[in-house]
Amino acid sequence: MCNTENHTSIIEQNNQHRRSFLKLTTASILGLGLTPLGNVHATSGVMKSPPLPENVLTPEAALERLMKGNERYVSGQSIPLNFSDERLDLMRGQNPYACVLSCSDSRVSPEFCFDEQRGDLFVARVAGNYLTTDFIATLEYSAAVLHTPLIMVLGHENCGAVKAAIDATDNNEQFPGHIQSIATALTPAVRAVQKKPDYVAANRYYEIVKMNVILTVRELRKQPPILSSLVDNGKLKVAGGVYQLETGKVRLVA
Ligand SMILES: [Zn+2]
Repeated sequence: MCNTENHTSIIEQNNQHRRSFLKLTTASILGLGLTPLGNVHATSGVMKSPPLPENVLTPEAALERLMKGNERYVSGQSIPLNFSDERLDLMRGQNPYACVLSCSDSRVSPEFCFDEQRGDLFVARVAGNYLTTDFIATLEYSAAVLHTPLIMVLGHENCGAVKAAIDATDNNEQFPGHIQSIATALTPAVRAVQKKPDYVAANRYYEIVKMNVILTVRELRKQPPILSSLVDNGKLKVAGGVYQLETGKVRLVA
């Protein structure tokens, strides 16, 4: 009983610490005039005040927070989750500070690997983290309606979808059902790596994972009419990372 109470108390302290820290960080950013308040909820009319004020960030501060969360995860310092803390706040709406387009692989979990909670990340997942019209629409909704200042495209080592694309390219392998569409969608990354002047066959698999992220980031940055405009106006940043299975570290590649 005593241990349970102590554990609960530690969790409460950690959650308070997390939110206090983030609120302080946001306050200091606001103090520096770096947060474009008009970027949040000014035009949508959906939210007069954001449910999570600490999520009101510049694109650069959003990326910094995301990567700091990954550092905590890598070092085993993830903050224990408390599912009751923001329930009432989140009933009013949502203002996630980052959107993540991730592979569906069960070993890569965006909320875990960036040490975040409900309300913080707007997550879209598909095997191979590639773009379709539906995914672009999802990302546009997050950026334009929820005013999320950051999109992170997250690939990972040993991605099965990338391996399928390699097998389809090298051996003309055909996959059953609709799986072939994944291999087809990732083929441009396979071809782009083979054309690189510094191509090293031994690193091919990882390089294609990386290239797939880079090509997706490029496509999102120039995607009209919504995303390209937000990027050009400095209201949205599109970054790309590759998750390392052994360490849990996300390495920025774009
Ligand atoms: Zn994958």
